[in-house]
Amino acid sequence: MSKKPFSVSESDFAAWLVCHLRYLYRSIGVKKSQPSLHKVVGDATHEAAAEEDATVREAIVAKHVERLPEEQRAEGKVMMEAQIKRADKHEEDEEPVIGQEKEKLERWRVPGTDREFVMKSDKIGWGVDDLNRQHLRITDMKSGLNPDWLIWKTKMELSIARMNLARLEKNRNAVASRVSLLEEEAAKHSGSQKVALEKKLSYQLDVLDKESAKTEEALIVVKKLAAKLSRSIRKFERVRTQLFFFAMVAEQTRDYHHASQLVAQFLGEVTREERANVEQLKKDYQKHFGEPQREPNPNGFEFWYQPEMGAEALERYLEQIPAMEEAREKRDAEATTGKHCFDCDYRDSCPAFQAWQAARNGSNLIALTVKKPEAGKQEKTA
Ligand code: SF4
Repeated sequence: MSKKPFSVSESDFAAWLVCHLRYLYRSIGVKKSQPSLHKVVGDATHEAAAEEDATVREAIVAKHVERLPEEQRAEGKVMMEAQIKRADKHEEDEEPVIGQEKEKLERWRVPGTDREFVMKSDKIGWGVDDLNRQHLRITDMKSGLNPDWLIWKTKMELSIARMNLARLEKNRNAVASRVSLLEEEAAKHSGSQKVALEKKLSYQLDVLDKESAKTEEALIVVKKLAAKLSRSIRKFERVRTQLFFFAMVAEQTRDYHHASQLVAQFLGEVTREERANVEQLKKDYQKHFGEPQREPNPNGFEFWYQPEMGAEALERYLEQIPAMEEAREKRDAEATTGKHCFDCDYRDSCPAFQAWQAARNGSNLIALTVKKPEAGKQEKTA
């Protein structure tokens, strides 16, 4: 057994599952690309919301604002302050939690192994039920709106968009049939009759162009909404998996083998305009498809962790570690390119991404040679 345990967090497993190279870059500390505005705002909110002291909070905000390019700093600061305010509001509205700790790093070494699981929850403490019994309560905060709410909304939008598309396809097909008939008729006739038929045909061809363009636009809307739905589903699953992992570790660090309450809080806000749009969307949906599903809370969801599910998940996590360890030892891992690369922190350092982009842009000039990554100053240990 090695002296230093092999540490893995939920984010390590998530990176490994998406792309082994991403995990490798993450684990050896390869320099990250410029983080997105939302990522920096999220980091600042997590860190500042865990602090009570106003001066410390200001310093945290200032530190994260510095990470942004000059042109995003003012906007970023406003967003951070708004999200921190919302995090405080959530806290005020929360059920009482006993012994709550914030941003707490926890490590659990799997007995008899050199594997260590690491997690940092936003808040962890003991909730109390109506019968005054205590249970472990773990909270994770996220920026944006509850993806479950976005799934609910996008499903309605998609149903309406698909209905529009079907209607437009029907219109376009009807015009296309008229065009075919006119073409056949024009071929059979000559003289003035042919001229008259060709005039009608020319008009119908214009109509067909317009109907085809409208159908094409409607198809793009459907595709965009379907992609948005997939993204929201992935985000929802990711948040659930993270919370589940936290509970799996907390069960062991506390030797608490009972159900735990898992809470996802979202700091985004439905604007007045968006609320009006949603109300209209519900009415439109109801008119065509009946009563919409019950609206989820845009600011959060909860579920329960059961230890027997944790035991199964633990086995699955442990099974993946040898391959992760090998990749790290050999500094060699397979790259999996795809849409997920656009959210990857390492895309600027990743030759696989650059080659993939070049191929997508129609050039094959960049060879797909994955260089061994350059390690950062300090390798990741947690
Ligand atoms: S950019 Fe894509 S291929 Fe490269 S490490 Fe990230 S996820 Fe993997």
